[in-house]
Amino acid sequence: MPCLSCLKENIDGYCLKCRKELFGGIKISPQLTFNSPYSVDNQVYNTHTQHISISGVQIKYSLKLVEGQLQLTDEGGEYILKPIPTGTFQQLDQAPANEHLTMQLARQVYGLNVPPNAIVYFTDNTPAYLVKRFDRKADGTKCLQEDFAQIAQMTSESHGENYKYDLSYQEMAELIKRYIPAYPIALEAFFRMILFNYLFSNGDAHVKNFSAIRSEMGDYQLTPAYDLLCTKLHSPSESDLALNLLAEGYPQKFLEVGFHTYNDFMEFGVLIGILPRRMEKILG
Ligand SMILES: [Zn+2]
Repeated sequence: MPCLSCLKENIDGYCLKCRKELFGGIKISPQLTFNSPYSVDNQVYNTHTQHISISGVQIKYSLKLVEGQLQLTDEGGEYILKPIPTGTFQQLDQAPANEHLTMQLARQVYGLNVPPNAIVYFTDNTPAYLVKRFDRKADGTKCLQEDFAQIAQMTSESHGENYKYDLSYQEMAELIKRYIPAYPIALEAFFRMILFNYLFSNGDAHVKNFSAIRSEMGDYQLTPAYDLLCTKLHSPSESDLALNLLAEGYPQKFLEVGFHTYNDFMEFGVLIGILPRRMEKILG
């Protein structure tokens, strides 16, 4: 079996490097001690924990490492657990593997800043996606974090039900320039994330799936990438990008050919202020 985090080494469970990143070096079994929320013996969810949030059909749970075991928790969560979602989308049983593989590719092949993540199994052997939270300080307290809907002050009241999709990536880049002091670095990371989302058909990269976090120094930084997956696998008719690249609508070339090209990303990069030679390096 490959490592259930980095997929590299031929070992049982998690390799040493991943064990360090995920669990501070402790040997953790990929097998959880409790069953899936869909099982008949799922009382542990009622007595121990509230859902963190329900976004669409994805329920998330908070986990903590207690005496060498991952346990459901209401407070001080160190990990987020995402079981197989429910709903009418296709191949949802593949969703944990999809997110895990997409996040690993983003990290290992495209060099995106991605939090440590892995696959774990419930006692009935159904898989779930596990990701380490990045909004916790060393003492366990929470960092101040805002997603781009909050930064742009967009809510369903102010911008309607579809508010998460009511901004372009170019306009998000303007917010990065305004709120993140080290914006040249953040803009390049943002550009890489948008390109990755397009290449991997992530139609879910809306404004709430990007955030800024306050560092220990007090300034804001772009958070690592999260919720990356190929949504096309589950919803074939979905768009390859959640938001428009440009504030002014589609680039001319896109209207002609129906998909984004190298030139569209060059145009987007120039508009948000990335140096052409840096872009050529990123776009290869
Ligand atoms: Zn590994």
